[in-house]
Amino acid sequence: MTKGKQLYEGKAKKVYATETPDECIVSYKDDATAFNGLKKGTIRGKGTINNRLTNYLMERLESEAGIPTHLIRELSDTDTLVRKVDIVPLEVIVRNVVAGSLAKRVGKEEGTPLARPILEFCYKDDGLGDPMVNDYHILAMGWADEKTLETIKDYAFRIDDYLIAFFKEIGIDLIDFKLEFGITSDGRLVLADEISPDTCRFWDSVTKEKLDKDRFRRDLGDVEGAYKEVLERVFGERR
Ligand code: UDP
Repeated sequence: MTKGKQLYEGKAKKVYATETPDECIVSYKDDATAFNGLKKGTIRGKGTINNRLTNYLMERLESEAGIPTHLIRELSDTDTLVRKVDIVPLEVIVRNVVAGSLAKRVGKEEGTPLARPILEFCYKDDGLGDPMVNDYHILAMGWADEKTLETIKDYAFRIDDYLIAFFKEIGIDLIDFKLEFGITSDGRLVLADEISPDTCRFWDSVTKEKLDKDRFRRDLGDVEGAYKEVLERVFGERR
């Protein structure tokens, strides 16, 4: 499988065409951005870590939680063959504990537990700053149809249940995370994008130390060490 034309370059990944029209190659970069691209930097080794973590978690979600994903197979440290999808233009956010923008919105301290998970949608548009939207916006604007939206909700909560338990076993609290879904050429809804310390908040269960991109966003230091710690806990204690 060889890389063809570059189809797209995002903040953290590049996407290339392949010989097969409905497959493409995702290539993870070490580049990091935050605050809608305002803060830029490099996290050494991030591309490899996020590629390996995402693929491992997607495999587990497929086999153990019955969630279809875009993953076909890992090609190298940074590159993965995936099914080509049309991305549903929504960031699907699941929250188990108050943090980040929710802390500001509801005036609660970070770390405040939630009685039940919260599901949020943001419309994926950098120019607009990814505004939060609800079911009515999504259906009225045609970003997803009713059945797709219901399936996204079902998958999001099932992914949350699975990942909470998975990370708990390795001493990590899953605070919140962002998912993206896509539609394959044959019309199937699948989990796409990535699941990594770039897109999840991970806190050490005991010390509550942050093991995710907040270390970069908030200049907390040892960003590389935190990403490596998550990789080592996932692979070290489970394989
Ligand atoms: N998130 C993300 N990409 C975004 C926005 C949020 O991956 O463009 C993730 C973020 O890492 C966190 C969760 O979604 O795990 C909730 O983020 P929040 O809305 O609190 O925004 P933030 O505080 O990250 O701006």
